[in-house]
Amino acid sequence: MIDLKKFEVWFITGSQHLYGEETLKQVAAHSQQIAKGLDGSGQIAVSVGYKPVVKTTEEIYNTMQEANAAENCIGVITWMHTFSPAKMWIRGLNILQKPLLHLHTQFNRDIPWSSIDMDFMNLNQSAHGDREFGFIVSRMRKNRKVVVGHWQDNEVLAQIDAWTRAAAGWHDWQGAKFARFGDNMRFVAVTEGDKVEAELKFGFAVNTYGVGDLVAVINAVTEQEIDALINEYEATYTMDAALLKGGEKHSSVYEAARIEIGLRTFLEKGGFKGFTDTFEDLHGMVQLPGIAAQRLMEAGFGFAGEGDWKTAALVRAFKVMGSGLKGGNAFMEDYTYHFDPENNLVLGSHMLEIDSSLANGKPALEVHPLGIGGKADPARLVFNVAGGQALNASIIDMGNRFRLLINEVEAVEPQNDLPNLPVARVLWKPYPDMKTGCAAWIYAGGAHHTAYSQNLTAEHLQDFADIAGLEFLRIGKETRLDQFRNELRWNEVAYK
Ligand code: MN
Repeated sequence: MIDLKKFEVWFITGSQHLYGEETLKQVAAHSQQIAKGLDGSGQIAVSVGYKPVVKTTEEIYNTMQEANAAENCIGVITWMHTFSPAKMWIRGLNILQKPLLHLHTQFNRDIPWSSIDMDFMNLNQSAHGDREFGFIVSRMRKNRKVVVGHWQDNEVLAQIDAWTRAAAGWHDWQGAKFARFGDNMRFVAVTEGDKVEAELKFGFAVNTYGVGDLVAVINAVTEQEIDALINEYEATYTMDAALLKGGEKHSSVYEAARIEIGLRTFLEKGGFKGFTDTFEDLHGMVQLPGIAAQRLMEAGFGFAGEGDWKTAALVRAFKVMGSGLKGGNAFMEDYTYHFDPENNLVLGSHMLEIDSSLANGKPALEVHPLGIGGKADPARLVFNVAGGQALNASIIDMGNRFRLLINEVEAVEPQNDLPNLPVARVLWKPYPDMKTGCAAWIYAGGAHHTAYSQNLTAEHLQDFADIAGLEFLRIGKETRLDQFRNELRWNEVAYK
């Protein structure tokens, strides 16, 4: 969807003039080799660019200023090959506005036992040079990711990759616009929140657009455009004869296609990265956008139902972070439970709008009554979703802070046909187990709406939370309810 290679992280090596020209030349040569090695490893999602070694307060300040201003620079990796007295870093770190990763590595993997001498010791000092740097970052209370190990180590590369993906998601939020058609759904609490604070903290704007403005764009869609999209539907999905051209229910598909084109046009013309709607405010629309929302999500837009702008923004960030990885990222809702003690399950779904990038096999395009909302029967894609490791994540507004909560889950293949349930659905088992996972989620105030990911891990989201200044809570295999409840209590103090 999004080409992450167009983004760059800068590899900046710190040193000082104490060592003399010869040593500094070697430092620069080694740094170039490491930056090139990271960039060419094939294991890091974005590009890695070498920057000249910084040796003074002024050089550090200027480099950070350039990083802030560089459009495609999404983060900075620092490394101290030698000792770089960290008071020199204060001004530069103070103005740095891009995410920071401290790579605690060493040029050579092994100690050359038979040849090691004092020249070698003067050059290869990161074991203590990086501690001096670490102190000042901690002293300045700056969030960063610390990655330890040799720069060719696969685990190190994977950790750097996770951070670059988080940084790309963050970069995408800066200046992003999300359209909200209609307001919140009635009295729902968790989908509300402070949009001003969100723009201050996260860099994206959420604004309301009258559904009438959208309807005007939908009504301006031409018959030729609709016809072309219906051809695409017929080529892509399984459809009953009644839904095909000339069939008795074809008009529902026709209206759905019109809505999809209108929505896409509105979003693209306005430069929006996602949207929300609510089935309570569809004045002038024939049906609730079903297939439209599903396919727009598959195309990379963030979405959540019922005015839930926080989840829509999170879904968009997930799509950027997971770009190029196998699996999908989607809007989800915990819908209903299977409380069989031998086989506890959550059935995740929504009224209609489950991202078709999750589809396992060819989706069926179907038209059925919605049961609520009082509109015409909407078209939607129906499919099952594959099993495997996954997670649900929710951003909630706690009043004095935003909280990012995740629950790692194991998705399972459907064991039963659901002939009377005409929506896409996922089945999963929350970690560490159903009762603990759900109780922890509820104690933490997690929403019923989530961003569901098949390809992001707790590491991606921890990194994202650190970059965004979000409180981060993880419910996973090791979670114990008593400890988790203490974590919630202690965080209340930490964020006071
Ligand atoms: Mn919902």
